[in-house]
Amino acid sequence: MNVHIPTLEQAQQLLQKYYGYPDFREGQRKIVASMLNGADTLGIMPTGGGKSICYQVPALLQPGLTLVISPLISLMKDQVDALITMGISAAFINSTLSGKEVNERIRAAKRGELKLLYVAPERLELDWFREEMSGLEISCVAVDEAHCVSQWGHDFRTSYLAVSPFVNSLPRRPILAAFTATATPEVMDDMIRLLRLNDPSVFVTGLGRDNLAMSVLRGENKRDFIMNYVTTHGHQPGIIYAATRKEVDDMYNRLRQNGIPAGRYHAGLSDSEREESQEAFLYDDIRVMVATNAFGMGIDKSNVRYVIHYNMPKNMEAYVQEAGRAGRDGEPSDCILLFSPQDIMTQKFLIEQNPQDENRKRNEYKKLQQMIEYCYSNSCLRWAMLDYFGEAHSREACGICSSCRDERELVDMTVDAQIIFSCIHRMRERFGVSLVSSVLKGSQNKKVLQYGFDSLPTYGMMRRRTEKEISELINVFIAEGYLALSEGQYPVVRLQPLAADVLRGQHQVMMRAPEHSAAKSAGTAAGSRRRGASYDNGPSAVNETVFEQLRLIRRDLAEKE
Ligand code: ADP
Ligand code: MG
Ligand code: ZN
Repeated sequence: MNVHIPTLEQAQQLLQKYYGYPDFREGQRKIVASMLNGADTLGIMPTGGGKSICYQVPALLQPGLTLVISPLISLMKDQVDALITMGISAAFINSTLSGKEVNERIRAAKRGELKLLYVAPERLELDWFREEMSGLEISCVAVDEAHCVSQWGHDFRTSYLAVSPFVNSLPRRPILAAFTATATPEVMDDMIRLLRLNDPSVFVTGLGRDNLAMSVLRGENKRDFIMNYVTTHGHQPGIIYAATRKEVDDMYNRLRQNGIPAGRYHAGLSDSEREESQEAFLYDDIRVMVATNAFGMGIDKSNVRYVIHYNMPKNMEAYVQEAGRAGRDGEPSDCILLFSPQDIMTQKFLIEQNPQDENRKRNEYKKLQQMIEYCYSNSCLRWAMLDYFGEAHSREACGICSSCRDERELVDMTVDAQIIFSCIHRMRERFGVSLVSSVLKGSQNKKVLQYGFDSLPTYGMMRRRTEKEISELINVFIAEGYLALSEGQYPVVRLQPLAADVLRGQHQVMMRAPEHSAAKSAGTAAGSRRRGASYDNGPSAVNETVFEQLRLIRRDLAEKE
């Protein structure tokens, strides 16, 4: 038998002929080559990276049909419409069709008239559908948004688990290819294991789209910020994500009242309302879309100039997917996260509300903590993001994120750090951020008194700051790796080796003063910010206490070693 393996050149010709693109992107080329060689393939590429072409072009070169598993009806329809417009024979089968239409499409597939057939994963669970499919020549099953198979991901869909049994039920095993933007190790493991990819070639490409200016803004008045931003960028398409329907409705109404053509999208609206505003957004009838995270999976709008998060999302995967909807055309775009500590409470509440096993819950808390650390990070946000996803990057800062653009001077925070670390040490590293803050504040709350912490030498040493400011500072130290939180619902703050160096006086802590510092609320002059902490007992008294503290702690640390 003469086995003909299509070449990459042929693939490239089809790319030019149908799509009008001169060439594959770097990541696409490798994935297409792997699929043409008949290997199971896992392609991880950022949102907007061009995953669809990775399976659509090979589909044209393989005999028979490529079956595409796609999670959303709207997404299937958009893709199939686009394919048909380009002259590629494609169809979808989903619940919007009548029985007659479904049959027609299956017959067309049987006659070999279709190259691509899109279905939702639920369909694979139906016996009659499996039977029909086993009568077809299926050369490839492409699983789009494949992270949905994993419980560690953010869009778990039970029916994705039906993919593997379905593939096994086919008379001849097709090649299996899976695509997602989610690159965490747990999700990758799950995709390979649960979809049963057979010794797959795995390709991960650039998460850091360098046209995106990432920002985290802490301590802004969120509503005012959005109103300002949208007014000055009103002519450009953008998305504002909020955590709840109520917040979406409020923001939507405010924008409308101010004459800004906004649309909204959340699960509380009817299908037709949602569809209408999605279309209006796609065709630029409205410029700003205010939405919950229900909006966006699969929307292919390339010219979104900004994505603003009104609240911190639950984890980095969710954030990167949502923020990644900006700038898909490669033009400079903003991704702005408006953070407030209240967001942490909201996310914890959501985790607790959702009944699930302990393992899963612990994992969600861990991911939430990583998201929080991103929000408090003082170093390049692009690094923080790539580090999270385990992608190698150069040690050159991006220069356009809010950390890189931060012009506040670096402040010597060594003494603040020593006070906080010694307090944690004195509390035996057994308590959370809020109790440590209460002790440093000199609060009389019940827990402080109950444990006798009012007699600690560090008690009340940061009296001039609010507890909130002290917590923020501790969170910054966590984000910077001086401290770490244990896992679980009530995490305990622990000292990291770097903190011991600070206590020993071997490491100087230079950082940008937190936005909430007492100095800023008193009037924001850069000069006063430079002061760092303000102590209560007068500088000399404090210095003596700190000095004495440090002496004792150094002794403790020496004994530990
Ligand atoms: P993903 O599914 O990875 O989010 P899509 O497949 O929707 O991304 O593609 C995103 C955009 O990039 C689309 O507008 C697509 O036409 C465009 N695109 C994909 N591959 C190429 C290429 N090789 N050259 C130019 N544009 C491309
Ligand atoms: Mg896609
Ligand atoms: Zn940067």
